[in-house]
Amino acid sequence: MKSKREGNTRFRLILTLGLAVVLPALTLIYVNFRHVKAIKRDKKVEALIHRDFEYILAVSEKQMNEKAYQLAEQARDLFPPDNATPEEKSKQLDQVLAKSPWFAHVYIFDSEKPIIFRSQPAQWNDPMFRADHERLKRVYSGWFGLEGKLIMEELHKRPKPISWYGGEYKGTDGQPHYSTSSSFTFPQLPRERVVLGGAVFDTRYLKQTFFPEMLDLLISKQVDMDQKGLFPGIFHELRPAEAGEHKDQRLAMMVYPGNSRNEDLDRPFAMSPGWSGGEPEISRNLGDVFSGLKLGIKFQGTTAKALGDKWVLQSLAILAVLSVLMIGGLALTYRSVNKQVALAKLKSDFVSNVSHELRTPLALIRLYAETLELGRITTQDKKNEYYSIIRKESERLSALINNILDFSRIEAGAKEYDFRETDIAELVRNTLDSYRFQIEQQGFALEEQIDPGIPRVRVDREAIARALVNLVNNALKYSDNEKFLGVRLYRDNAVLKLEVSDRGIGIERNEQTRIFEKFYRTCDPLVHNTKGSGLGLSLVRHITHAHGGEVEVESAPGRGSKFTMSLPLVQPEAAS
Ligand code: ADP
Repeated sequence: MKSKREGNTRFRLILTLGLAVVLPALTLIYVNFRHVKAIKRDKKVEALIHRDFEYILAVSEKQMNEKAYQLAEQARDLFPPDNATPEEKSKQLDQVLAKSPWFAHVYIFDSEKPIIFRSQPAQWNDPMFRADHERLKRVYSGWFGLEGKLIMEELHKRPKPISWYGGEYKGTDGQPHYSTSSSFTFPQLPRERVVLGGAVFDTRYLKQTFFPEMLDLLISKQVDMDQKGLFPGIFHELRPAEAGEHKDQRLAMMVYPGNSRNEDLDRPFAMSPGWSGGEPEISRNLGDVFSGLKLGIKFQGTTAKALGDKWVLQSLAILAVLSVLMIGGLALTYRSVNKQVALAKLKSDFVSNVSHELRTPLALIRLYAETLELGRITTQDKKNEYYSIIRKESERLSALINNILDFSRIEAGAKEYDFRETDIAELVRNTLDSYRFQIEQQGFALEEQIDPGIPRVRVDREAIARALVNLVNNALKYSDNEKFLGVRLYRDNAVLKLEVSDRGIGIERNEQTRIFEKFYRTCDPLVHNTKGSGLGLSLVRHITHAHGGEVEVESAPGRGSKFTMSLPLVQPEAAS
Protein backbone atom coordinates (compact mmCIF):
# COMPACT_ATOMS: atom_id res chain seq x y z
CA MET A 1 0.00 0.00 0.00
CA LYS A 2 1.36 3.40 -0.92
CA SER A 3 1.01 6.09 1.66
CA LYS A 4 -0.26 9.56 1.04
CA ARG A 5 3.05 11.05 2.00
CA GLU A 6 4.95 8.80 -0.36
CA GLY A 7 2.57 9.95 -3.07
CA ASN A 8 3.27 13.53 -2.09
CA THR A 9 7.01 12.99 -2.29
CA ARG A 10 6.68 11.39 -5.68
CA PHE A 11 4.49 14.24 -6.84
CA ARG A 12 7.04 16.75 -5.58
CA LEU A 13 9.85 14.92 -7.35
CA ILE A 14 7.91 14.82 -10.60
CA LEU A 15 7.05 18.49 -10.19
CA THR A 16 10.68 19.37 -9.55
CA LEU A 17 11.88 17.37 -12.51
CA GLY A 18 9.15 18.93 -14.56
CA LEU A 19 10.30 22.38 -13.52
CA ALA A 20 13.97 21.58 -13.94
CA VAL A 21 13.99 19.71 -17.18
CA VAL A 22 10.70 19.44 -18.98
CA LEU A 23 9.63 23.06 -18.72
CA PRO A 24 12.92 24.63 -19.86
CA ALA A 25 13.29 21.99 -22.54
CA LEU A 26 9.79 22.65 -23.85
CA THR A 27 10.41 26.39 -23.73
CA LEU A 28 13.65 25.87 -25.62
CA ILE A 29 11.91 23.82 -28.28
CA TYR A 30 9.15 26.38 -28.53
CA VAL A 31 11.57 29.31 -28.75
CA ASN A 32 13.65 27.54 -31.38
CA PHE A 33 10.56 26.71 -33.33
CA ARG A 34 9.47 30.34 -33.18
CA HIS A 35 12.92 31.49 -34.24
CA VAL A 36 12.98 29.16 -37.20
CA LYS A 37 9.54 30.38 -38.18
CA ALA A 38 10.59 33.98 -37.66
CA ILE A 39 13.69 33.47 -39.79
CA LYS A 40 11.59 31.85 -42.48
CA ARG A 41 9.09 34.64 -42.26
CA ASP A 42 11.80 37.26 -42.22
CA LYS A 43 13.34 35.69 -45.28
CA LYS A 44 9.99 35.88 -47.03
CA VAL A 45 9.44 39.47 -45.92
CA GLU A 46 13.00 40.33 -46.85
CA ALA A 47 12.67 38.85 -50.32
CA LEU A 48 9.46 40.77 -50.92
CA ILE A 49 10.92 43.98 -49.57
CA HIS A 50 13.94 43.60 -51.80
CA ARG A 51 11.74 42.96 -54.79
CA ASP A 52 9.76 46.08 -53.97
CA PHE A 53 12.90 48.10 -53.45
CA GLU A 54 14.31 47.01 -56.77
CA TYR A 55 11.07 47.92 -58.42
CA ILE A 56 11.03 51.35 -56.76
CA LEU A 57 14.63 52.00 -57.78
CA ALA A 58 13.94 51.06 -61.40
CA VAL A 59 10.87 53.29 -61.52
CA SER A 60 12.80 56.11 -59.85
CA GLU A 61 15.66 55.91 -62.30
CA LYS A 62 13.24 56.00 -65.18
CA GLN A 63 11.54 59.08 -63.81
CA MET A 64 14.77 60.91 -63.13
CA ASN A 65 15.96 60.14 -66.65
CA GLU A 66 12.69 61.30 -68.14
CA LYS A 67 13.02 64.57 -66.29
CA ALA A 68 16.59 65.03 -67.53
CA TYR A 69 15.59 64.25 -71.11
CA GLN A 70 12.76 66.70 -70.81
CA LEU A 71 15.11 69.46 -69.64
CA ALA A 72 17.59 68.70 -72.44
CA GLU A 73 14.85 68.72 -75.08
CA GLN A 74 13.49 71.98 -73.73
CA ALA A 75 16.94 73.54 -74.06
CA ARG A 76 17.49 72.07 -77.52
CA ASP A 77 14.28 73.62 -78.75
CA LEU A 78 15.63 77.03 -77.77
CA PHE A 79 18.91 76.55 -79.68
CA PRO A 80 19.61 79.04 -82.47
CA PRO A 81 18.85 78.12 -86.10
CA ASP A 82 21.66 76.82 -88.27
CA ASN A 83 21.82 79.90 -90.49
CA ALA A 84 22.39 82.34 -87.62
CA THR A 85 25.74 84.11 -87.40
CA PRO A 86 28.22 82.97 -84.69
CA GLU A 87 27.43 86.10 -82.68
CA GLU A 88 23.70 85.50 -82.90
CA LYS A 89 24.25 81.91 -81.92
CA SER A 90 26.31 82.92 -78.86
CA LYS A 91 23.66 85.37 -77.82
CA GLN A 92 20.88 82.86 -78.17
CA LEU A 93 22.83 80.25 -76.27
CA ASP A 94 23.20 82.81 -73.47
CA GLN A 95 19.42 83.11 -73.47
CA VAL A 96 19.12 79.33 -73.26
CA LEU A 97 21.36 79.44 -70.19
CA ALA A 98 19.25 82.19 -68.67
CA LYS A 99 16.10 80.13 -69.14
CA SER A 100 17.69 76.87 -67.96
CA PRO A 101 19.57 77.61 -64.74
CA TRP A 102 20.10 73.80 -64.30
CA PHE A 103 22.65 73.81 -67.09
CA ALA A 104 26.14 75.19 -66.47
CA HIS A 105 27.34 75.09 -70.09
CA VAL A 106 25.74 74.78 -73.51
CA TYR A 107 27.47 74.42 -76.86
CA ILE A 108 27.08 73.92 -80.57
CA PHE A 109 29.62 71.86 -82.47
CA ASP A 110 29.81 72.11 -86.24
CA SER A 111 32.54 70.14 -87.96
CA GLU A 112 33.04 73.01 -90.33
CA LYS A 113 33.25 75.80 -87.78
CA PRO A 114 34.85 76.42 -84.38
CA ILE A 115 32.84 75.20 -81.40
CA ILE A 116 30.56 77.76 -79.70
CA PHE A 117 30.75 77.06 -76.00
CA ARG A 118 28.82 79.26 -73.54
CA SER A 119 28.71 79.10 -69.76
CA GLN A 120 26.52 80.58 -67.00
CA PRO A 121 27.75 84.17 -66.57
CA ALA A 122 26.72 84.20 -62.89
CA GLN A 123 29.37 81.60 -62.10
CA TRP A 124 32.08 83.11 -64.24
CA ASN A 125 33.80 84.57 -61.18
CA ASP A 126 34.58 81.08 -59.88
CA PRO A 127 38.04 80.11 -61.21
CA MET A 128 37.18 76.43 -61.02
CA PHE A 129 34.14 77.08 -63.14
CA ARG A 130 36.22 78.90 -65.69
CA ALA A 131 38.68 76.03 -65.72
CA ASP A 132 35.77 73.63 -66.32
CA HIS A 133 34.65 75.81 -69.22
CA GLU A 134 38.07 75.63 -70.84
CA ARG A 135 38.45 71.93 -70.21
CA LEU A 136 35.06 70.95 -71.57
CA LYS A 137 35.38 73.22 -74.60
CA ARG A 138 38.67 71.56 -75.43
CA VAL A 139 37.40 68.04 -74.76
CA TYR A 140 34.26 68.39 -76.86
CA SER A 141 35.82 70.08 -79.84
CA GLY A 142 38.60 67.52 -79.89
CA TRP A 143 36.39 64.54 -79.35
CA PHE A 144 33.61 65.54 -81.75
CA GLY A 145 36.25 66.51 -84.30
CA LEU A 146 37.43 62.89 -84.23
CA GLU A 147 34.28 60.95 -83.61
CA GLY A 148 31.50 63.39 -84.43
CA LYS A 149 30.31 61.39 -87.38
CA LEU A 150 30.17 58.15 -85.46
CA ILE A 151 28.36 59.77 -82.57
CA MET A 152 25.80 61.24 -84.96
CA GLU A 153 25.16 57.83 -86.51
CA GLU A 154 24.66 56.34 -83.07
CA LEU A 155 22.27 59.13 -82.12
CA HIS A 156 20.17 58.68 -85.24
CA LYS A 157 19.51 55.08 -84.26
CA ARG A 158 17.94 56.09 -80.94
CA PRO A 159 14.27 56.87 -80.37
CA LYS A 160 15.38 60.18 -78.94
CA PRO A 161 18.56 61.57 -80.50
CA ILE A 162 20.14 62.51 -77.18
CA SER A 163 23.02 60.80 -75.42
CA TRP A 164 24.60 61.39 -72.03
CA TYR A 165 28.11 61.24 -70.64
CA GLY A 166 28.33 61.07 -66.89
CA GLY A 167 31.19 60.50 -64.52
CA GLU A 168 33.60 61.96 -62.06
CA TYR A 169 36.55 64.09 -63.05
CA LYS A 170 39.29 65.61 -60.94
CA GLY A 171 38.71 69.32 -60.41
CA THR A 172 41.43 71.94 -60.12
CA ASP A 173 41.02 71.59 -56.34
CA GLY A 174 42.16 67.97 -56.65
CA GLN A 175 38.79 66.63 -55.56
CA PRO A 176 36.55 64.36 -57.59
CA HIS A 177 33.53 66.12 -59.06
CA TYR A 178 30.57 64.59 -60.76
CA SER A 179 29.13 65.91 -63.95
CA THR A 180 26.82 64.69 -66.68
CA SER A 181 26.14 66.26 -70.02
CA SER A 182 23.83 65.68 -72.96
CA SER A 183 24.65 65.75 -76.65
CA PHE A 184 21.97 65.89 -79.27
CA THR A 185 21.38 66.30 -82.95
CA PHE A 186 19.06 68.74 -84.62
CA PRO A 187 16.35 66.80 -86.49
CA GLN A 188 15.76 69.64 -88.99
CA LEU A 189 19.35 69.47 -90.37
CA PRO A 190 20.38 67.07 -93.13
CA ARG A 191 21.89 63.85 -91.83
CA GLU A 192 25.27 64.13 -93.52
CA ARG A 193 26.19 67.30 -91.63
CA VAL A 194 28.03 66.83 -88.35
CA VAL A 195 26.37 69.35 -86.06
CA LEU A 196 25.89 68.54 -82.41
CA GLY A 197 24.41 70.55 -79.62
CA GLY A 198 24.83 69.92 -75.93
CA ALA A 199 24.04 70.99 -72.39
CA VAL A 200 26.09 70.19 -69.29
CA PHE A 201 24.22 69.84 -66.01
CA ASP A 202 25.25 72.19 -63.24
CA THR A 203 26.62 69.85 -60.53
CA ARG A 204 25.51 72.18 -57.76
CA TYR A 205 22.02 72.25 -59.14
CA LEU A 206 21.93 68.44 -59.35
CA LYS A 207 23.14 68.17 -55.79
CA GLN A 208 21.04 70.84 -54.18
CA THR A 209 17.85 70.86 -56.18
CA PHE A 210 17.39 68.19 -58.80
CA PHE A 211 18.09 65.06 -56.71
CA PRO A 212 16.63 66.24 -53.37
CA GLU A 213 13.41 67.27 -55.11
CA MET A 214 13.29 64.11 -57.17
CA LEU A 215 13.91 61.83 -54.17
CA ASP A 216 11.30 63.60 -52.10
CA LEU A 217 8.81 63.36 -54.92
CA LEU A 218 9.58 59.70 -55.56
CA ILE A 219 9.18 58.77 -51.92
CA SER A 220 5.90 60.59 -51.50
CA LYS A 221 4.76 58.94 -54.71
CA GLN A 222 5.50 55.50 -53.21
CA VAL A 223 3.45 56.35 -50.16
CA ASP A 224 0.68 57.55 -52.45
CA MET A 225 0.85 54.36 -54.43
CA ASP A 226 0.70 52.34 -51.28
CA GLN A 227 -2.36 54.16 -50.06
CA LYS A 228 -4.08 53.56 -53.36
CA GLY A 229 -3.08 49.90 -53.14
CA LEU A 230 -0.80 50.13 -56.18
CA PHE A 231 2.33 49.23 -54.33
CA PRO A 232 3.31 45.77 -55.49
CA GLY A 233 4.93 43.61 -52.84
CA ILE A 234 5.00 43.48 -49.10
CA PHE A 235 1.82 45.22 -48.33
CA HIS A 236 -0.38 43.16 -50.56
CA GLU A 237 1.19 39.76 -50.63
CA LEU A 238 1.72 39.51 -46.89
CA ARG A 239 -0.84 39.27 -44.15
CA PRO A 240 -0.72 42.42 -41.95
CA ALA A 241 0.82 40.37 -39.10
CA GLU A 242 3.67 39.31 -41.34
CA ALA A 243 4.35 42.72 -42.82
CA GLY A 244 4.33 43.82 -39.18
CA GLU A 245 6.61 46.72 -38.39
CA HIS A 246 7.49 47.22 -42.04
CA LYS A 247 4.00 48.32 -42.88
CA ASP A 248 4.30 51.68 -41.21
CA GLN A 249 7.92 52.32 -42.04
CA ARG A 250 8.73 55.19 -44.38
CA LEU A 251 11.33 54.95 -47.07
CA ALA A 252 14.54 56.88 -47.52
CA MET A 253 16.69 57.16 -50.64
CA MET A 254 20.18 58.39 -51.43
CA VAL A 255 22.25 59.12 -54.49
CA TYR A 256 25.98 58.57 -54.19
CA PRO A 257 29.00 58.14 -56.43
CA GLY A 258 29.73 54.60 -57.46
CA ASN A 259 29.56 51.98 -60.13
CA SER A 260 29.36 48.22 -60.17
CA ARG A 261 33.00 47.90 -59.10
CA ASN A 262 33.28 50.41 -56.29
CA GLU A 263 31.16 52.84 -54.42
CA ASP A 264 31.61 55.68 -52.00
CA LEU A 265 28.96 55.80 -49.31
CA ASP A 266 30.84 58.46 -47.38
CA ARG A 267 30.31 61.08 -50.09
CA PRO A 268 26.57 61.09 -50.56
CA PHE A 269 25.59 63.14 -53.54
CA ALA A 270 22.08 63.81 -52.33
CA MET A 271 19.65 62.23 -49.91
CA SER A 272 15.99 62.26 -49.10
CA PRO A 273 14.77 63.44 -45.71
CA GLY A 274 14.95 60.59 -43.22
CA TRP A 275 18.22 59.12 -44.49
CA SER A 276 20.07 58.71 -41.20
CA GLY A 277 23.30 57.41 -42.67
CA GLY A 278 24.40 53.84 -42.99
CA GLU A 279 24.13 51.52 -45.93
CA PRO A 280 21.22 51.19 -48.28
CA GLU A 281 19.24 47.99 -48.12
CA ILE A 282 19.27 47.78 -51.92
CA SER A 283 21.14 49.90 -54.45
CA ARG A 284 21.10 50.32 -58.23
CA ASN A 285 23.73 51.48 -60.64
CA LEU A 286 22.26 54.36 -62.55
CA GLY A 287 22.83 54.27 -66.26
CA ASP A 288 22.18 56.56 -69.22
CA VAL A 289 21.78 60.11 -67.81
CA PHE A 290 23.37 59.56 -64.45
CA SER A 291 25.91 56.83 -65.09
CA GLY A 292 28.61 56.89 -62.46
CA LEU A 293 26.06 57.34 -59.71
CA LYS A 294 24.17 54.89 -57.55
CA LEU A 295 20.71 55.10 -56.11
CA GLY A 296 20.16 53.44 -52.71
CA ILE A 297 17.01 52.76 -50.72
CA LYS A 298 16.13 51.60 -47.22
CA PHE A 299 13.58 52.03 -44.50
CA GLN A 300 13.82 55.19 -42.44
CA GLY A 301 15.41 54.80 -39.03
CA THR A 302 16.12 51.10 -38.89
CA THR A 303 19.12 49.51 -40.39
CA ALA A 304 19.70 45.83 -40.85
CA LYS A 305 22.23 46.13 -38.02
CA ALA A 306 19.66 47.60 -35.65
CA LEU A 307 17.26 44.78 -36.46
CA GLY A 308 20.04 42.25 -35.92
CA ASP A 309 20.98 43.82 -32.59
CA LYS A 310 17.39 43.66 -31.46
CA TRP A 311 17.25 40.01 -32.37
CA VAL A 312 20.47 39.24 -30.49
CA LEU A 313 19.21 41.11 -27.43
CA GLN A 314 15.94 39.20 -27.50
CA SER A 315 17.73 35.88 -27.83
CA LEU A 316 20.05 36.73 -24.96
CA ALA A 317 17.14 37.67 -22.72
CA ILE A 318 15.35 34.41 -23.52
CA LEU A 319 18.54 32.48 -22.90
CA ALA A 320 19.04 34.21 -19.56
CA VAL A 321 15.51 33.41 -18.42
CA LEU A 322 15.88 29.79 -19.51
CA SER A 323 19.22 29.48 -17.75
CA VAL A 324 17.75 30.84 -14.53
CA LEU A 325 14.88 28.36 -14.87
CA MET A 326 17.27 25.48 -15.47
CA ILE A 327 19.56 26.41 -12.59
CA GLY A 328 16.55 26.87 -10.31
CA GLY A 329 15.17 23.53 -11.41
CA LEU A 330 18.48 21.78 -10.92
CA ALA A 331 18.82 23.27 -7.44
CA LEU A 332 15.32 22.05 -6.59
CA THR A 333 16.09 18.58 -7.96
CA TYR A 334 19.34 18.49 -6.02
CA ARG A 335 17.50 19.37 -2.82
CA SER A 336 14.80 16.88 -3.49
CA VAL A 337 17.24 14.08 -4.28
CA ASN A 338 19.24 14.92 -1.17
CA LYS A 339 16.10 14.66 0.90
CA GLN A 340 15.27 11.31 -0.63
CA VAL A 341 18.77 10.01 0.05
CA ALA A 342 18.61 11.18 3.66
CA LEU A 343 15.21 9.58 4.07
CA ALA A 344 16.45 6.32 2.58
CA LYS A 345 19.30 6.30 5.10
CA LEU A 346 16.93 7.00 7.98
CA LYS A 347 14.71 4.16 6.80
CA SER A 348 17.54 1.67 6.70
CA ASP A 349 18.68 2.77 10.18
CA PHE A 350 15.11 2.35 11.28
CA VAL A 351 14.89 -1.20 10.01
CA SER A 352 18.06 -2.24 11.81
CA ASN A 353 16.99 -0.47 15.02
CA VAL A 354 13.53 -1.94 14.99
CA SER A 355 14.65 -5.48 14.27
CA HIS A 356 17.03 -5.21 17.22
CA GLU A 357 14.31 -3.69 19.34
CA LEU A 358 12.01 -6.61 18.51
CA ARG A 359 14.60 -9.31 18.97
CA THR A 360 15.87 -8.24 22.39
CA PRO A 361 12.60 -8.47 24.35
CA LEU A 362 11.61 -11.64 22.50
CA ALA A 363 14.92 -13.27 23.37
CA LEU A 364 14.56 -12.24 27.02
CA ILE A 365 10.97 -13.48 27.22
CA ARG A 366 11.97 -16.79 25.71
CA LEU A 367 14.98 -17.16 28.00
CA TYR A 368 13.05 -16.47 31.19
CA ALA A 369 10.03 -18.54 30.13
CA GLU A 370 12.29 -21.53 29.32
CA THR A 371 14.11 -21.20 32.61
CA LEU A 372 10.78 -21.20 34.45
CA GLU A 373 9.55 -24.15 32.40
CA LEU A 374 12.54 -26.22 33.36
CA GLY A 375 11.45 -25.82 36.97
CA ARG A 376 14.91 -25.00 38.16
CA ILE A 377 13.80 -21.88 39.95
CA THR A 378 12.76 -22.71 43.39
CA THR A 379 12.25 -19.51 45.33
CA GLN A 380 9.02 -17.62 44.85
CA ASP A 381 10.86 -14.29 44.88
CA LYS A 382 13.04 -15.32 41.97
CA LYS A 383 9.98 -16.61 40.12
CA ASN A 384 8.19 -13.32 40.71
CA GLU A 385 11.19 -11.46 39.44
CA TYR A 386 11.22 -13.56 36.24
CA TYR A 387 7.47 -13.10 35.75
CA SER A 388 7.84 -9.38 36.08
CA ILE A 389 10.71 -9.31 33.56
CA ILE A 390 8.57 -11.27 31.09
CA ARG A 391 5.69 -8.86 31.63
CA LYS A 392 7.86 -5.78 31.26
CA GLU A 393 9.55 -7.07 28.14
CA SER A 394 6.23 -7.98 26.56
CA GLU A 395 4.96 -4.52 27.49
CA ARG A 396 7.97 -3.00 25.77
CA LEU A 397 7.34 -5.22 22.80
CA SER A 398 3.70 -4.29 22.49
CA ALA A 399 4.54 -0.58 22.95
CA LEU A 400 6.97 -0.83 20.07
CA ILE A 401 4.57 -2.80 17.91
CA ASN A 402 1.82 -0.30 18.70
CA ASN A 403 4.10 2.53 17.65
CA ILE A 404 4.98 0.82 14.39
CA LEU A 405 1.35 -0.04 13.66
CA ASP A 406 0.22 3.48 14.45
CA PHE A 407 2.99 4.88 12.33
CA SER A 408 2.13 2.72 9.34
CA ARG A 409 -1.56 3.64 9.71
CA ILE A 410 -0.64 7.32 9.79
CA GLU A 411 1.62 6.89 6.74
CA ALA A 412 -1.20 5.15 4.90
CA GLY A 413 -3.55 7.93 5.94
CA ALA A 414 -5.74 5.31 7.61
CA LYS A 415 -5.25 6.28 11.22
CA GLU A 416 -8.57 6.88 12.91
CA TYR A 417 -9.08 8.45 16.29
CA ASP A 418 -11.85 7.60 18.66
CA PHE A 419 -12.72 10.85 20.44
CA ARG A 420 -14.60 10.41 23.68
CA GLU A 421 -15.45 12.56 26.67
CA THR A 422 -12.58 11.80 29.00
CA ASP A 423 -11.31 12.70 32.44
CA ILE A 424 -7.83 13.43 31.21
CA ALA A 425 -6.41 13.90 34.75
CA GLU A 426 -7.37 10.33 35.55
CA LEU A 427 -5.99 9.11 32.23
CA VAL A 428 -2.60 10.66 32.97
CA ARG A 429 -2.59 9.34 36.52
CA ASN A 430 -3.46 5.79 35.42
CA THR A 431 -0.85 5.77 32.68
CA LEU A 432 1.83 6.94 35.09
CA ASP A 433 0.71 4.38 37.67
CA SER A 434 1.36 1.54 35.30
CA TYR A 435 4.88 2.86 34.75
CA ARG A 436 5.57 4.00 38.28
CA PHE A 437 7.26 0.79 39.29
CA GLN A 438 9.53 0.79 36.24
CA ILE A 439 10.35 4.49 36.71
CA GLU A 440 11.27 4.09 40.28
CA GLN A 441 13.12 0.89 39.67
CA GLN A 442 15.37 2.71 37.21
CA GLY A 443 16.17 5.15 40.00
CA PHE A 444 14.14 8.09 38.71
CA ALA A 445 12.56 10.65 40.96
CA LEU A 446 9.03 11.13 39.64
CA GLU A 447 7.38 14.45 40.26
CA GLU A 448 3.76 14.25 39.32
CA GLN A 449 1.72 17.43 39.40
CA ILE A 450 -1.87 17.25 38.21
CA ASP A 451 -3.90 20.38 38.87
CA PRO A 452 -7.32 19.85 40.40
CA GLY A 453 -10.47 20.78 38.48
CA ILE A 454 -9.23 19.86 35.03
CA PRO A 455 -12.37 19.75 32.85
CA ARG A 456 -13.40 16.68 30.88
CA VAL A 457 -12.30 16.79 27.24
CA ARG A 458 -12.99 14.82 24.08
CA VAL A 459 -9.84 12.88 23.31
CA ASP A 460 -8.74 9.53 21.99
CA ARG A 461 -7.72 7.91 25.29
CA GLU A 462 -5.42 5.36 23.80
CA ALA A 463 -3.63 7.91 21.59
CA ILE A 464 -3.07 10.42 24.40
CA ALA A 465 -1.78 7.63 26.66
CA ARG A 466 0.56 6.47 23.92
CA ALA A 467 1.89 10.00 23.41
CA LEU A 468 2.50 10.34 27.16
CA VAL A 469 4.21 6.93 27.30
CA ASN A 470 6.47 7.90 24.43
CA LEU A 471 7.48 11.15 26.12
CA VAL A 472 8.05 9.40 29.46
CA ASN A 473 10.07 6.64 27.80
CA ASN A 474 12.26 9.22 26.07
CA ALA A 475 12.86 11.02 29.36
CA LEU A 476 13.95 7.71 30.89
CA LYS A 477 16.08 6.75 27.90
CA TYR A 478 17.86 10.03 27.45
CA SER A 479 18.87 10.85 31.03
CA ASP A 480 22.25 9.87 32.38
CA ASN A 481 23.50 11.62 35.50
CA GLU A 482 20.46 13.24 37.03
CA LYS A 483 17.48 10.94 36.95
CA PHE A 484 14.46 13.10 37.23
CA LEU A 485 11.07 12.85 35.58
CA GLY A 486 8.48 15.58 35.90
CA VAL A 487 4.94 15.21 34.60
CA ARG A 488 2.59 18.15 34.87
CA LEU A 489 -1.00 18.59 33.74
CA TYR A 490 -2.50 22.04 34.03
CA ARG A 491 -4.91 24.41 32.40
CA ASP A 492 -3.71 27.58 30.72
CA ASN A 493 -6.89 29.50 29.83
CA ALA A 494 -8.51 27.56 26.96
CA VAL A 495 -5.58 25.22 26.56
CA LEU A 496 -4.74 22.08 28.44
CA LYS A 497 -1.03 21.51 28.87
CA LEU A 498 0.68 18.20 29.45
CA GLU A 499 4.35 18.63 30.27
CA VAL A 500 7.01 15.93 30.52
CA SER A 501 10.42 17.13 31.68
CA ASP A 502 13.74 15.57 32.49
CA ARG A 503 17.22 16.68 33.44
CA GLY A 504 18.93 14.46 30.92
CA ILE A 505 21.21 14.98 27.97
CA GLY A 506 19.09 17.65 26.33
CA ILE A 507 18.88 18.46 22.63
CA GLU A 508 20.91 20.88 20.51
CA ARG A 509 18.90 23.87 19.33
CA ASN A 510 19.36 23.08 15.65
CA GLU A 511 17.94 19.60 16.17
CA GLN A 512 14.92 20.64 18.16
CA THR A 513 12.56 20.74 15.19
CA ARG A 514 14.08 17.79 13.37
CA ILE A 515 13.48 15.34 16.22
CA PHE A 516 9.77 15.43 15.36
CA GLU A 517 10.49 14.12 11.87
CA LYS A 518 9.97 10.42 11.27
CA PHE A 519 13.05 8.20 11.83
CA TYR A 520 15.11 11.15 13.01
CA ARG A 521 17.50 10.52 15.89
CA THR A 522 20.12 12.94 17.19
CA CYS A 523 23.83 12.29 16.95
CA ASP A 524 24.39 12.16 20.72
CA PRO A 525 26.44 9.07 21.65
CA LEU A 526 23.92 8.13 24.34
CA VAL A 527 21.17 8.19 21.73
CA HIS A 528 23.35 6.12 19.50
CA ASN A 529 23.75 3.49 22.18
CA THR A 530 20.11 3.51 23.15
CA LYS A 531 17.78 1.56 20.97
CA GLY A 532 14.98 3.46 19.38
CA SER A 533 13.04 3.69 16.17
CA GLY A 534 12.89 7.45 15.71
CA LEU A 535 9.13 7.14 15.48
CA GLY A 536 8.02 8.17 18.98
CA LEU A 537 8.05 11.95 18.64
CA SER A 538 6.62 11.92 15.14
CA LEU A 539 3.69 9.96 16.58
CA VAL A 540 3.38 12.41 19.49
CA ARG A 541 3.22 15.25 17.01
CA HIS A 542 0.67 13.51 14.84
CA ILE A 543 -1.52 12.71 17.81
CA THR A 544 -1.40 16.29 19.16
CA HIS A 545 -2.19 17.70 15.72
CA ALA A 546 -5.13 15.33 15.43
CA HIS A 547 -6.42 16.84 18.64
CA GLY A 548 -6.04 20.33 17.24
CA GLY A 549 -3.03 20.99 19.45
CA GLU A 550 0.69 21.54 19.24
CA VAL A 551 3.77 19.96 20.76
CA GLU A 552 6.83 21.99 21.66
CA VAL A 553 10.20 21.33 23.18
CA GLU A 554 12.39 23.47 25.37
CA SER A 555 15.81 22.03 25.87
CA ALA A 556 19.45 22.79 26.50
CA PRO A 557 22.22 20.23 25.97
CA GLY A 558 23.32 18.75 29.32
CA ARG A 559 20.51 20.45 31.23
CA GLY A 560 17.46 18.45 30.21
CA SER A 561 14.37 18.80 28.08
CA LYS A 562 10.76 19.77 28.53
CA PHE A 563 8.15 18.56 26.05
CA THR A 564 4.77 20.29 26.22
CA MET A 565 1.65 19.03 24.51
CA SER A 566 -0.95 21.81 24.26
CA LEU A 567 -4.48 20.58 23.68
CA PRO A 568 -7.32 23.05 23.11
CA LEU A 569 -10.22 22.52 25.47
CA VAL A 570 -12.73 22.73 22.65
CA GLN A 571 -11.66 19.91 20.44
CA PRO A 572 -12.59 19.14 16.85
CA GLU A 573 -15.49 16.71 16.54
CA ALA A 574 -13.51 14.14 14.67
CA ALA A 575 -10.14 14.72 13.29
CA SER A 576 -7.92 12.13 11.82
P1 ADP B 1 13.59 7.29 19.47
O1 ADP B 1 13.55 7.70 20.90
O2 ADP B 1 12.97 5.97 19.21
O3 ADP B 1 14.94 7.44 18.85
P2 ADP B 1 11.85 9.55 19.11
O4 ADP B 1 11.08 9.99 17.93
O5 ADP B 1 11.05 9.30 20.34
O6 ADP B 1 12.67 8.30 18.66
O7 ADP B 1 12.92 10.63 19.43
C1 ADP B 1 13.69 11.15 18.39
C2 ADP B 1 15.03 11.63 18.91
O8 ADP B 1 14.86 12.79 19.70
C3 ADP B 1 15.72 10.67 19.79
O9 ADP B 1 16.45 9.73 19.05
C4 ADP B 1 16.60 11.56 20.65
O10 ADP B 1 17.77 11.85 19.92
C5 ADP B 1 15.79 12.83 20.78
N1 ADP B 1 15.04 12.89 22.05
C6 ADP B 1 13.75 12.61 22.24
N2 ADP B 1 13.39 12.84 23.54
C7 ADP B 1 14.51 13.31 24.15
C8 ADP B 1 14.79 13.71 25.50
N3 ADP B 1 13.86 13.70 26.46
N4 ADP B 1 16.03 14.12 25.78
C9 ADP B 1 17.00 14.15 24.82
N5 ADP B 1 16.78 13.77 23.52
C10 ADP B 1 15.56 13.33 23.20
